[in-house]
Amino acid sequence: MLHLRSLSGEKINVKAQVFRGVNQLSFEEIPVPQVETDEVLVQVQVVGLCQSDIKKIRYPLYEPPRIFGHETAGIIAAVGSEVRGWQVGQRVAVMHHIPCMRCAYCLNENFSMCDVYKNISTTAGFNASGGGFAEYVKVPGHIVQNGGLIAIPDEISFEEASFVEPTNCCLKAVKKAQIAPGQTVLITGAGPIGLMFVMLVKYFGAKAIATDLLPSRIEKALNVGAEAAFDARDPDLAAKIHAITDGLGVDVTLLAVPSDKAFFQALDCTRKGGKILFFAEFPDELEIPINPNILYRREIDLMGSYSSSYRLQALSADIVFHRRIDVSALISDRYPLKDLSAAVEQAIAPSADTYKILIYP
Ligand SMILES: [Zn+2]
Ligand SMILES: [Zn+2]
Repeated sequence: MLHLRSLSGEKINVKAQVFRGVNQLSFEEIPVPQVETDEVLVQVQVVGLCQSDIKKIRYPLYEPPRIFGHETAGIIAAVGSEVRGWQVGQRVAVMHHIPCMRCAYCLNENFSMCDVYKNISTTAGFNASGGGFAEYVKVPGHIVQNGGLIAIPDEISFEEASFVEPTNCCLKAVKKAQIAPGQTVLITGAGPIGLMFVMLVKYFGAKAIATDLLPSRIEKALNVGAEAAFDARDPDLAAKIHAITDGLGVDVTLLAVPSDKAFFQALDCTRKGGKILFFAEFPDELEIPINPNILYRREIDLMGSYSSSYRLQALSADIVFHRRIDVSALISDRYPLKDLSAAVEQAIAPSADTYKILIYP
């Protein structure tokens, strides 16, 4: 355990995976972040590898150097002198962003559009970018003071706790699409996110139908609670979905893959007056032509959901900490931090049984 006293004294170096440019991850020694009086230092135990991390590593979206990783669970290693309510040794899940709650976006509950939300982040060094891919991550005062640290109950593992953040992101989409008991929901893509959607949709009393290209993922979707699961290439997909929804189509489609084909399938499979929600981030160069009368005559609502919601943090923690969904069933691989590049490679080209990959500093 690292104590604040040793931090303010001699410089201690720790390991981190530093993003040095597109597809360049460098396993380096960096100094432990210095903790200010209102800040908390967390020793990372587990960090989930997220699709958004992979995008940030593979595309020129952010200036290097940075340390990504944001699905963080760990142990408090140091606490600033003005911090109240947190002690060294406590187990915590870390939210990497907290909105300001005052700007026009926040007042309209569009928390993920808030500038404070976007610009203040946990950091292991360099430009703050999550910082979970390091041995120690620093939580800024704004995040500490506004509920960004969540105590992990004794019976919950760090692995499980690392799912609070992705659960929040998925939950936000479920709430935004107003998924309700008795509805049927199509989920395109049965990777770690699609499978989590299957679990959440079921938890909220709706029926999930999943599609994927991998037979193993189709099988897995059924195992975690989907009512039906199909090969996304099935030419009769729309007919099959209409057959199990009284000829109507599904109430909601959640797009968990960035594919225009999946979108057009969603149009064929979603009922009149239904909703299609974009969850996966599409490549910027991809444009989707759409006849506006599809939206007008069929009253299909198109919507997007990005990142998490401050309002749903407590519910997300409740769902994970009370095992209302079985997040452990999503874990397929564990990598030491030094092998993050290999983990990214595996996530890009998943094998039959690749789902959620967790990283261990
Ligand atoms: Zn994430
Ligand atoms: Zn705000």
